[in-house]
Parts: sequence; C-alpha cells; structure tokens
Amino acid sequence: MTRPFSILALGIISVFISFNTTGCANQTDIATMPVEPSTPAAPAFSIPESLLAFDATIPVLLFHYIEPAENTAPGNALAITPEQLESYLSYFHNKQIETITFRDLKQIIEGNRSLPERAVILTFDDGYANQYQYAFPLLERYAMRGVFFIITEKPDADPAYMTWEQIKTLSDAGHEIGSHSVAHPDLTALQPDRLEEELATSRSSIERIIGLPVLTFCYPSGQYNDQVLAAVRDQYLFARSTQPGSNIALDRRYEMPALRVTATVPAFSLGELFTK
Ligand SMILES: [Zn+2]
Repeated sequence: MTRPFSILALGIISVFISFNTTGCANQTDIATMPVEPSTPAAPAFSIPESLLAFDATIPVLLFHYIEPAENTAPGNALAITPEQLESYLSYFHNKQIETITFRDLKQIIEGNRSLPERAVILTFDDGYANQYQYAFPLLERYAMRGVFFIITEKPDADPAYMTWEQIKTLSDAGHEIGSHSVAHPDLTALQPDRLEEELATSRSSIERIIGLPVLTFCYPSGQYNDQVLAAVRDQYLFARSTQPGSNIALDRRYEMPALRVTATVPAFSLGELFTK
C-alpha cells in the first residue's frame, strides 16, 4: 500500500545545502576515441578547477511513467499517477523548494546564477508520451522545471514516446532535454565505435531539434564502466546515474546520483531527502 500523502504530511523538513570547498578534484578529460568526421564538435564548456570542489546536497529524483492507475500495466513498479506527482510538486511549492535543471547547475557553478537555498532536480527517463501528457502540464501549473532524457530513435517512430515536436515544446518552455542514447543499449557491452555513435548521434539529433547544446547524458539502465565514462566525458558536461544518493559533487559529475520514485516505494519520504 502506498501512502505518499501521509508521508508528506509527517515531517518537519529542513534543507541543508552544504558546500565543501576543501575537497580536491583530479579530472583528466583526455579524448582517446577516434572521432568520425561527421561527428559534431563537442560543446565548448569547461569548469574552472576551483569550482570542482562544489559539493551540494541537491536531491535528484528519477521518474519513469506518469499515468493514471488504470493505464498502468500490472506489475509496472516504475509508474506513478499524476496525483502522486502533483503531491510532490505541491509539497515543493509549499516548502519553497525550487526545481533546477542541470543546465541551471552549469550556470550556478559558473557564477551566473545563485543556488537556491532549497533545490531539487526532477528527471524523467525514456521520453514517454505520458510524461508530456501528464507531467508537463503539472510542471507548468507549478512553474517548475524538469529534465527529460530522450531515447532518440523513439520520437515520431513509436507512439508510446513523445514526438520531436513535443520535445521542442518542452525545451522552449524551459525544461532541459538530455540524451538517453539512441537505442537504450547496455553501453558497457558496445565496441568503441558503437559507443561513440550512441553518444554523438543522440546528442546531435536532439541539438538539431531544440537548437541548444545538450549538456547532460543519462546511462541506459544505469549501466556504465570506465570506458563508457571516458566516452561520455568527451561529449557531455554531466551524466546522471541510478546510484542512490543526493550529494552533487562536481568531481563526480558523470556519476550524478538519483533517487528513484516509484509507486511501490511507499517509504519514499521527501523529508528524508532533505534532512541531513
Ligand atoms: Zn531508460
């Protein structure tokens, strides 16, 4: 039995955003992959060494299907209802917790935007049509922003997924569009040229539609290894994993943790996320 509302009602919640400026980072971004001539140039960005010690508690929530219970296939533990999503958004609204995106995070670490006192990142995996149908209007109603990770072979090819037009609409409304690869393979099983293609082609497909650089990658099924990490580093600024946790450290920005929100996790407690 899920009891998100009673959980929401429980807590005296406090949020601590902590900065650790004493950490050190050792980032070696060495391009070792051969790049095909057709591969678009990687976006030009860099993070000053002095900022790599940025270490903030910003919960990253992970959503999949957002759909009414009657639409949910039996046993699909990755689905939540629009009402459940709204309960979280309403909670954030009431607690003055701001939604930010990874694109915002880039501006924050560059000093072009301030970090909200209480911040959360909402991520939506796979680009399902129901996210556009149900999550997008709710986010708009609360003036909140999400990050949508797209499997780029799906739009306009599979009706269960958003169309490119919908993805462009989301992006134009201020939501971040990230890459979730072309075909959602296990990236750790791919040869280097196929891995490179999954990363570069998905990125350029999205960039062509939204007219903005794609900064953030999301590992299909959360799978990565050192080879995948190195390849992602060459093309993206951030990557979200499925490792649990809520501490964003920039020297681990290719292994950003996430907290999975599912209907079968009744203990999902926003209070726990924000109380350290
Ligand atoms: Zn996925």
